[in-house]
Amino acid sequence: MTFTTRFAPSPTGPLHLGHAFSALLAHDMARSAGGRFLLRIDDLDQSRARPEWEAQLKGDLAWLGLTWPEPCRRQSDHLADYRAALDRLTARGLTYPCQCSRRDISAAASAPQEGAPHFGPDGLIYPGTCRARSMSEARPGDAIRLDIEKALGQGALPGFTETGPAHAGQHLLTADYLLTGIGDPVLARPQMGASYHLSVVVDDAAQGVTHVIRGEDLFTATFLHRFLQHLLDLPTPAYHHHALIRDAAGKRLAKRDDARAIARYRDDGLTPEQIRSMVDL
Ligand code: GLU
Repeated sequence: MTFTTRFAPSPTGPLHLGHAFSALLAHDMARSAGGRFLLRIDDLDQSRARPEWEAQLKGDLAWLGLTWPEPCRRQSDHLADYRAALDRLTARGLTYPCQCSRRDISAAASAPQEGAPHFGPDGLIYPGTCRARSMSEARPGDAIRLDIEKALGQGALPGFTETGPAHAGQHLLTADYLLTGIGDPVLARPQMGASYHLSVVVDDAAQGVTHVIRGEDLFTATFLHRFLQHLLDLPTPAYHHHALIRDAAGKRLAKRDDARAIARYRDDGLTPEQIRSMVDL
């Protein structure tokens, strides 16, 4: 199988040094393996995605010397694919509608009988308030969650291969970790169609991605992605989670750190080679 990787930014702000590192690393790894590098536009959150940001991020990536096949996949064009995946899980009785707000979740998770609150890939682990509701009771504003406990009955748990520096090796999924470290994830939201977790596994499979190269912050989410691939019979890529680029104070770079935006460095006259050496590539 041809080595295929992707860089999947959300067009919700400027591309910064952390993104540049991730994209350059994926591009370099694909090139040295004689493989393919794809660009995917993760624009499911239509309330924040902007065509201007998409145009700017493509301009910045091209300036850095990256090339990718066009047209690139845009998530907002594939809502029916995510819906079909969700429907398959629902048909097997593995989903339920949830009406809890963030505030409800934090109140329930910090109730005295719950002990110290636990955090998973999406923040506080969902305490299961709506778990007994059935899909026939779903109301228009509800999110749809996966019932991890029910889904655990669907065959032996798989694992995945990780090659990144912090967690290199084979990782097996365990029921205990899925229940206590992940919790019932949101698969679809009222305004977004699908959640990131559902869309990313559908997209990676549809695009034949063999290697996912992305930031260390998504390592724990990979256990959930592998579980969704298992439930949906999707192929699983190998994973490589790289270290995050941090600022001088050790803080992770965020989209709002405009000072680190690639466009700013371009305007200041830096070259793509200088950006590469700033991120140690
Ligand atoms: N749009 C996601 C992000 O920027 C992609 C993550 C991934 O590569 O899976 O965080």
